[in-house]
Amino acid sequence: MKGLMMDTQLLISSIAQHAEKFHGDREIVSVTADNPRHRYTFREAIGRAKKLANALERLGVKQGDRVASLAWNDYRHLEIYYGVSGSGYVCHTINPRLFPEQIVFIINHAEDRFICVDVMFVPLLEAVADKIPNVEGFIILTDEAHMPETSLPNVMCYETLLAAESSEFDWPELDERSASALCYTSGTTGNPKGVLYDHRSTILHAYATLSIDVAGVSSRDVAMPVVPFFHVNAWGVPYSALMAGTKLVLPGPKMGDGEALYELIESEDVTKAFGVPTVWLSLLQYTEKTGKRLEKLEQSLVGGAAVPRAMIEVFRDKHGVELRQGWGMTETSPIGTVNTIKAGLEDLSKDEQLDLATKAGRGIFGCELRIVDDNGGELPWDGEAFGALQVRGPWVCSDYFKLEGSGGTHTDDGWFETGDVATIDPQGYVAITDRTKDVIKSGGEWISSIELENTAMGHPAVAEAAVIGVAHPKWTERPLLVVVRSEGEDVSKEEMLAYFDGKVATWWVPSDVVFVDELPHTATGKVKKIELRKQFAEYRLPG
Ligand code: AMP
Repeated sequence: MKGLMMDTQLLISSIAQHAEKFHGDREIVSVTADNPRHRYTFREAIGRAKKLANALERLGVKQGDRVASLAWNDYRHLEIYYGVSGSGYVCHTINPRLFPEQIVFIINHAEDRFICVDVMFVPLLEAVADKIPNVEGFIILTDEAHMPETSLPNVMCYETLLAAESSEFDWPELDERSASALCYTSGTTGNPKGVLYDHRSTILHAYATLSIDVAGVSSRDVAMPVVPFFHVNAWGVPYSALMAGTKLVLPGPKMGDGEALYELIESEDVTKAFGVPTVWLSLLQYTEKTGKRLEKLEQSLVGGAAVPRAMIEVFRDKHGVELRQGWGMTETSPIGTVNTIKAGLEDLSKDEQLDLATKAGRGIFGCELRIVDDNGGELPWDGEAFGALQVRGPWVCSDYFKLEGSGGTHTDDGWFETGDVATIDPQGYVAITDRTKDVIKSGGEWISSIELENTAMGHPAVAEAAVIGVAHPKWTERPLLVVVRSEGEDVSKEEMLAYFDGKVATWWVPSDVVFVDELPHTATGKVKKIELRKQFAEYRLPG
């Protein structure tokens, strides 16, 4: 027997309608290249998103067509999120940090019809314009006064385009399974792969992130996503904030600027922030240098890479800020796990709480998890067994755009293979130990490069650290620690190795340490281990 509930569709446009009606006066504050502090309300944002929807319709965009963005986090990008997806078009957010060849590949692969582009990324498109002939027009995200000289063909000014349109628009009644947004993985091996979100997955994911043990933003909060709008839909914040009525602070091109982030947090009363660990490193460096304290911030959701214990500790003890670690992927919308203290664990000592906080957290409702061995057999949740992490749920991708099952990333019984290796403890806390391809196998046993990196990062003289496996005649592989020293520091190899004493099993201690000026990074700021392994391909362990 079927239930008797209404069959209304879960649509991104319904968030826009809700935000307008219930939180119309809430503010959105942005930094843009043409305005250091732009402010307006949710009502104005949605009104302009409707103008954009009218403009795109006039340009002949049809349901399902891709309209791309190449832009930082600001109010115009937010309007694109709603104006494009709300109208039944697909918002393809392009990561400007991808290599030019990858940008060409994804624009052509996505078959983008129009690209909305920040002034500062115009040169990037000019350099590849002859390789993306199918793009019909470029909409530059500024007003007439700030329009750049450009060799791009078919250029339009965003503000002029909007000025000609009405802010009345009837959002179409779509099927909730219609595609809403497209985001390509950074493609450390091979071409980037497109993850195609739909309205339903987006709404369910945003709902889930609103719960107290996930991001828990409310209408009394002020949220600042420092995670880019082009990195997995800024972890859903542009949706969840408008659902909850949360004031938004958008740092525009100032994402990596510790001082600018500090000023925004303090002057706009930001209570909840979102970003990858490297972003918070620049904020911490600024507070260390100036002796300033974060007075307003309460919590930051951090993920995308392992969060160093030392960073969690400084935020907690110096600034009273909870760094809440989460794990996720482009393929998982992204949030799969989040780390908060579970009932029964409140009495852990401060040190034990820190140990727990270095884990990726517990699976949130809606994202099932399991770890399996090489034969696909499920492994126990004992905190010891390492296995390939697989996930399943309504906001996990079922395939990649136009790959038709050839990605080889799904099991026969319908789980997604994350490519991460993890342990899960009896309380359900997941610890990511490696990417499958980065695992170090020494004497037949696995060593977690992430745990070693985390330990090394606790040393005050270490700015960044990475661990890779290198060949060893007896043990097959041994860990090599590659360190970038903090400015003005001169820690030695012996001091570095001694630092591991008592912190990890003796056989895990790296066999050697190499100091470098910088580590190679991917377009989303992760250490590029493939590149690092290439760099050290000829390296031989001492003795
Ligand atoms: P992306 O799709 O670019 O967001 O990258 C997803 C990958 O980032 C995951 O598969 C993990 O390897 C890594 N990652 C994300 N969150 C964490 C975390 N909390 N700890 C360790 N690695 C993480």
